[in-house]
Amino acid sequence: MSDNPSTPVISVVIPIYNEAENLPDLVGRVGAALERTGKPFELICIDDGSRDDSAHILAELAASTPWLQPRYLIRNYGQTAALQAGFDIVRGEYIVTLDGDLQNDPDDIPALIEKMEASPEIDMISGWRKERQDAALSRKLPSTIANRLISKVTGVSLHDYGCALKVYRREIIDRIHLYGELHRFIPTLAAEAGARIVEVPVKHHARTRGVSKYGIDRTFRVALDLLLIKFLMRYLHRPLHAFGGVGLWLLTPGILALGWLGILKLLGESIGGRPLLLVGIMLCLMGVQLIAIGVLGEILIRVYHEPSGRDLYRVREAPRPRAQSSR
Ligand code: UDP
Ligand code: MG
Repeated sequence: MSDNPSTPVISVVIPIYNEAENLPDLVGRVGAALERTGKPFELICIDDGSRDDSAHILAELAASTPWLQPRYLIRNYGQTAALQAGFDIVRGEYIVTLDGDLQNDPDDIPALIEKMEASPEIDMISGWRKERQDAALSRKLPSTIANRLISKVTGVSLHDYGCALKVYRREIIDRIHLYGELHRFIPTLAAEAGARIVEVPVKHHARTRGVSKYGIDRTFRVALDLLLIKFLMRYLHRPLHAFGGVGLWLLTPGILALGWLGILKLLGESIGGRPLLLVGIMLCLMGVQLIAIGVLGEILIRVYHEPSGRDLYRVREAPRPRAQSSR
């Protein structure tokens, strides 16, 4: 793009939470790696409300490092919000993310950028920690299961969803919007936004300084987020089909049961003491409520689309004509 050093071609985004011991090394190594690409770059470090000295160290480093852009969040929002805070200010054409603990290797970045440049058909490269240096039982096993499950459920098949080292084309970052803890599902969100993704093996190191910010409870949150993602992928734009569908399955037998009891009543039987009466009423109530929730969902999704001007679909350029036809 431009040769002006003030407009970076590569923007690196790193969330930072209590990584004071890693910061000087991190900034130095990312800088050295990016200088090898020969392209103007910026390093956006988001201090996610660190309680240690990270913010001060960042500010000090930034004073003497023109390409370092720190941003400081007022409290600890979590990795997802920190990443989005970085995505919101990126200026480059290629966006790189990695962790701030040097478990990812900055030296991998130039090759990834090169691959991206050489392959116009790729929009996103996801790192794959083929030889992962984390505890086997508490980290690697849950992660293997999660990767299989997420790949199967979302249809976006990757070996390593959890690798933070990723490279994106800018359009993809502009199209996705993170919230909650959905940074783990960026590949799914990106694929939904039309990204073509490849996985490339990258180096991985054990954490040598600082501590991991996550424990085993992350497994459960990932499982819930997976449910959410699946639901959003399938029903975000047609909630009535999700809730109304179940509603109809309950309402129909409910009406049949009450109808049947109504006929018996007309024939002179007493129905007041029959359990079926209660079942019928319950089914009808639940069915009607679920359908109403579905309709509410439909209204919400209209509110969601209309003022925001979010696109319902996105078109791509026409495919190039095949071989010339003889006329
Ligand atoms: N992180 C963050 N906010 C948080 C938790 C983590 O910005 O609330 C950052 C953290 O500093 C690191 C990255 O997210 O750069 C990944 O965290 P960590 O290395 O603890 O995760 P793990 O590698 O253990 O999965
Ligand atoms: Mg880590």
